[in-house]
Amino acid sequence: MPIAMIVHGGAWAIPDDQVDLHQAGCRAALAVGWEILNAGGSALEACESAVLLMEDDPIFDAGTGAVLTSEGTVELDAALMDGRSLRYGAVAGLRRIRNPITLARRILEGPATLLVGDGAERYAEQVGITLCANEELIVERERKLWEDWRAGRTTPAPFDASETPSTPSAGHDTVGAIALDREGNLVAANSTGGTPFKLPGRVGDTPLIGCGLYADAQIAAAVCTGWGESIARVALARRVIELIERGFAPQSAAEAAIRTLVRQVPGGSGGCILLTHDGRVGMAWNTRRMAYAYRIEGGEVAVGV
Ligand code: ASP
Repeated sequence: MPIAMIVHGGAWAIPDDQVDLHQAGCRAALAVGWEILNAGGSALEACESAVLLMEDDPIFDAGTGAVLTSEGTVELDAALMDGRSLRYGAVAGLRRIRNPITLARRILEGPATLLVGDGAERYAEQVGITLCANEELIVERERKLWEDWRAGRTTPAPFDASETPSTPSAGHDTVGAIALDREGNLVAANSTGGTPFKLPGRVGDTPLIGCGLYADAQIAAAVCTGWGESIARVALARRVIELIERGFAPQSAAEAAIRTLVRQVPGGSGGCILLTHDGRVGMAWNTRRMAYAYRIEGGEVAVGV
């Protein structure tokens, strides 16, 4: 079975001066996952490792470097879905976990599917994950954006295709990964700090199965990014899978799903990546940019925005 992997680093108006860092982050995450797949490792391992790397990379809105809530805190969501067993693990509203994807993996392996807030953090401690202080997740760039927003110097732009780099507070570089391993298993994963200045407690599409991600090893896996409220309303990830089931080619399925998002939700905005059970990729977005990297065995690494 040929291996394949695709990652994304968020769909929005990535400013010109951040393009290189986004591409480098996606390339590095792909390389980490690829090494695991190439050595015969599992798609689960590859996705967790790739997303973990991006959570630790402060350029992305995930883990360290995530955007701040309206109260100036970080709240993180993540999920991981195994396409063969259809098991998933998801977390939301985490304030003290450096790598939400690792906790999502532990949840996938345990009795629950979705854990939130304090309960999720208590479970993390039970499974040996060390908690951190919320401040440790905050980087200067995001603190400054929040201070400007609080002082009324910027307004958070909505997730729409007209976003320009002059609205930095619209930044949202959620990360995601899909891997196909030698055993033919497909896994999807994602992680986010959500949308800038979100209401405390707000959860977007990312940890919602069928919305932010879905994986079915018989068909395909999809991961979405963008304005979570719009993505959740159309259950975008599941829609992508259904289009593949109906016989759409991967690229057409991705494009059709984004068209549906735009058509059905006023201001609907975002992007998606997908990988089929036989290692074909598709991706589409209606934001100005989406950072991505992918590789299919026998081919070269492709990186872009
Ligand atoms: N979809 C995420 C959310 O709404 C944000 C993003 O993808 O950038 O929480």
